[in-house]
Amino acid sequence: MHRSIAAYQNLVRGNERFTAGDPVSNTLATKERRDELVAGQNPSAIILGCSDSRVPAEVIFDQGLGELFVIRVAGNVAAQEGIGSIEYAVENCGTRLVVVLGHSCCGAVQATVNGLREGEMPSSPNLKSIVEKIAPAVSPLLESGDSNDLESLVDQAVKANVKNTVNDLLSDSPVLQHWMKEDNLVVVGASYSLESGQVEFFDAPPGAEA
Ligand SMILES: [Zn+2]
Repeated sequence: MHRSIAAYQNLVRGNERFTAGDPVSNTLATKERRDELVAGQNPSAIILGCSDSRVPAEVIFDQGLGELFVIRVAGNVAAQEGIGSIEYAVENCGTRLVVVLGHSCCGAVQATVNGLREGEMPSSPNLKSIVEKIAPAVSPLLESGDSNDLESLVDQAVKANVKNTVNDLLSDSPVLQHWMKEDNLVVVGASYSLESGQVEFFDAPPGAEA
């Protein structure tokens, strides 16, 4: 079984334990495990997720030390440093699964929706650069005018933003393209529900059964 499939199934099972209220991750963060990892890391999955305090990757996937290589940035956007971090793990740790993880009620997406509706950008150039990366997911939804309901608009924008980030990773990183061709690196999108605790994967590695 390819590593990307095992990594995907590990995340699916971990999220099932988390939502069932039956986590085992406290047994995966012991002194023994810490000692083992001093020599090096071999994380099974890379997660590009949002900084939101309610979506810590290790907790929602019920993983211990050394399992997940995590990049968190508001709105789970693909900034250059984030892409570089992913490339590092793919090249140096042999990790072959990348998950872009959005979530319901994302404040960064909500702020982008509000900003575009009102025609106002944040005055901070740092915040503005996040909003500009999320905007391509929001603008088509506003232009179509299909959704006046803010909650459903944000929900659709969260999913579109995850897909855009996946596409950004694929188009902006020759390193990731190389490993997709050479060793079946897989990049998938997913979204976490604050309400249910469940992660919905938009794609799975070829051949994976959840
Ligand atoms: Zn968020």
